Amino acid sequence: MSTTGTGPLRVSLVSEHASPLAELGGPDAGGQNVYVARLADHLARLGHTVTVYTRGDAPGLAPRLETATGVHVVHVPAGPATRLPKDELLRHMPAFGAFLRRCWVRERPDVVHAHFWMSGRAALAAVRGLEIPVVQTYHALGTVKRRHQGSADTSPPRRLEIEAAIGQSCRRVLATCADEVEELAAMGVDRDRVSVVPCGVDPRHFAPAGGLPRSPDAPRRLLGVGRLVPRKGFERAVRALPLLPGVELAVAGGPDASALATDPEAQRLRRIAEEVGVSERVTLLGAVPHHRLPRLMADADLVLSLPDYEPFGIVPLEAMACATPVVATAVGGQLDTVEDGVTGLLVPPEDPGGRLLAEAVRSLLDDPGRLARLGAAGRARVLDRYGWDRVADGVARVYATALATPSLSGATR
Ligand code: UDP
Repeated sequence: MSTTGTGPLRVSLVSEHASPLAELGGPDAGGQNVYVARLADHLARLGHTVTVYTRGDAPGLAPRLETATGVHVVHVPAGPATRLPKDELLRHMPAFGAFLRRCWVRERPDVVHAHFWMSGRAALAAVRGLEIPVVQTYHALGTVKRRHQGSADTSPPRRLEIEAAIGQSCRRVLATCADEVEELAAMGVDRDRVSVVPCGVDPRHFAPAGGLPRSPDAPRRLLGVGRLVPRKGFERAVRALPLLPGVELAVAGGPDASALATDPEAQRLRRIAEEVGVSERVTLLGAVPHHRLPRLMADADLVLSLPDYEPFGIVPLEAMACATPVVATAVGGQLDTVEDGVTGLLVPPEDPGGRLLAEAVRSLLDDPGRLARLGAAGRARVLDRYGWDRVADGVARVYATALATPSLSGATR
């Protein structure tokens, strides 16, 4: 039941491109989908009435359905009923917002939680004059993306300006890590209007495998998991392999295994593996169904999470929940989640030739006792801080704060 003192709320989650029902691993389907799906489930479990609004991106989707956990999902008709890259969705946000407004005039939510900047834009347009508080979670910031991707960034040019405006006009910003608060402050969002609640993981689903210990003669196995896009840094792992003889690398993510041959990032990684002479030790698995990941993570010696930048990064939490230590780049949310030397090791993203990464991996693989200790500490850290029950409760408290905060026009609920 709700512990926020507000009683059960009617909560609308808006997630324009990331459906809680989507298959994961493709270029635009990852952590946000998982976050919205699990947050919705756990808010419902706390007694709140939850509706998720996401774009209808396939023909024949039910306009409205209820999941097994009692969450309502509404497929918003905005743009063609087909999957579009998220960077092409801005022009459909007026229709998305107009639909939300029609729904919310009929059935008023107590609070709206918008996910990603375009959802924030549609939600703020929809609540104009209705005095419904909007809580914004960015999941990723255009300023950070632009800094790292430069001219390769395909975001609409107005993204930065719109993101800053959302930060000024929403009732509260819900950030997921300390690094994001700094980025928001640099965008002009007052720290007093930002609350930090991390993303979560389900420690019953992501759990150690148990069973027989691995044979000491089995090849050592590194695992990377994530959307198969360059910024996830799987290249770093491939380039470090020549310094790690006998060690194998598997990567979960991307399209279905049958479509990997034509995937540009898969082709690029295979080319690099060939160049550095490690092709036979790299396996690209393609998209792995989410329910199969706990076993894969628990069976790996180490999970590598090596992005150039990372707004939060659920994968390290999932690995830690499976008692598998993580070697992660010291960026973004990973600075909060991976405790250096305790639940894994942090390595600098600037590491030409992968020497520091290889040293970090080797130091753990060569010390099974330490590997086990770090794994156990990761599991303990997850149980202590990142269970979804705790996270959903933290989010509901932010909703309560938003409801108690005067709007820019002076009204509270
Ligand atoms: N994922 C999955 N199958 C795959 C690849 C990824 O289920 O083949 C999931 C992964 O377990 C995690 C999410 O996709 O829950 C990725 O989230 P993360 O926050 O790490 O990265 P993002 O996609 O948000 O950049």
